[in-house]
Amino acid sequence: MTGKIIIISAPSGTGKSTIISALLDKGEIDMQFSISATNRPPRGEEQHGINYYFLSDEEFKSSIEDDAFVEFEEVYPGRFYGTLKSEISRITGEGHNVILDIDVKGGVNVKRMYGKQAISIFIQPPSLESLRARLTGRGTDAPEAIEQRLAKAEYELSFASDFDCVVVNDNLDHAIAEVDARIKNFVG
Ligand code: 5GP
Repeated sequence: MTGKIIIISAPSGTGKSTIISALLDKGEIDMQFSISATNRPPRGEEQHGINYYFLSDEEFKSSIEDDAFVEFEEVYPGRFYGTLKSEISRITGEGHNVILDIDVKGGVNVKRMYGKQAISIFIQPPSLESLRARLTGRGTDAPEAIEQRLAKAEYELSFASDFDCVVVNDNLDHAIAEVDARIKNFVG
C-alpha cells in the first residue's frame, strides 16, 4: 500500500515545526519526516540528513536540473528549499505516510499534485499582533526583519482557504491535539 502525504504549512513563527516535532515524538502515527534540501547553512544543532540536506548553491542548482524536486521555492531571497522526489517515493513506497514541513506556496503546490493522497493543514497564528509578539519575544530577528516577516505572514495568511483545514495555534497543546486528530482521521 502506498503511504499518504501530510502537508503542514504556516507563516513563519506560527509554531509549525514545534507541532510536527511533538507529533513525531509521540510516535502514535505511522509517518516519517520528509527531509528537504536547502542551500541555507545549518543553524545551531542542525545536522545534514536529519533536519535538511544542506547543499551548496551549485548542488541545489544541479538538483533542479536533474529534476530531483517535487517542488522548490525561494522562500527568502537567495534561500532555496525543495522537497525531494526521492524522499517522498522512498517513504510512501515503503507504505509509510510522510509529513512535510513546507512553506505556504509549496504546500498548495504539493496538495494540487497529489490530490486525495494528501491532506494539507494550515497552522494559523491567532492574529498578526500575536505573531509580532512571538517573533519579538524569540529575540532572533532585528526589528526590520520582524516587519519583513510580518508582511510576508500577512500575504501567506491569504492562502489559508486553499488548504484542506486550518488550525489556529492560540494554545500549543490544543493545536497539537487538533492536528493529531486531523491526521489520524485522514490516515485511518
Ligand atoms: P527554516 O529556514 O526556518 O528551516 O525554514 C524556512 C521555511 O522554509 C519554513 O516555512 C519551512 O517550512 C520552509 N521549507 C522547508 N522545507 C521546504 C521545502 O522543501 N519546500 C518549501 N517550499 N518550503 C520548505
